[in-house]
Amino acid sequence: MKKLTLSVAALTIAMMSYGQTQCNGLTKDSVQCKNTTKNKVELCYLHNPNYVKPSKTTTVVCGGTTQKGTNCKNKTKDSSGLCHNHRND
Ligand SMILES: [Zn+2]
Ligand SMILES: [Zn+2]
Repeated sequence: MKKLTLSVAALTIAMMSYGQTQCNGLTKDSVQCKNTTKNKVELCYLHNPNYVKPSKTTTVVCGGTTQKGTNCKNKTKDSSGLCHNHRND
C-alpha cells in the first residue's frame, strides 16, 4: 500500500506541474536555474537567447482573466503583461 500512495503523490505532483519544466540554464553560482518555463527549449526568459523582452513602455491589455471568466480589461505596462490585480500571486 505504501508504494501505491507514493505513486499517487508523484502523479499529483506531475499533474500540478504539467506543462511547466524547470529551466536548464545555470545561475552565476553554477547551480540549476529555479525558474520554470513552458517553452520547448526548456530555458526561462533569462537563459533563452531567443527570448524577446517586451518593451517596457508599451501598454498592453492585461492577459489575466476576471472571476467571471472574461478577459481583464485593465491596461498594464508591466513586462509580464498582467495588471496589478493579476500580478499578486
Ligand atoms: Zn533560467
Ligand atoms: Zn488584470
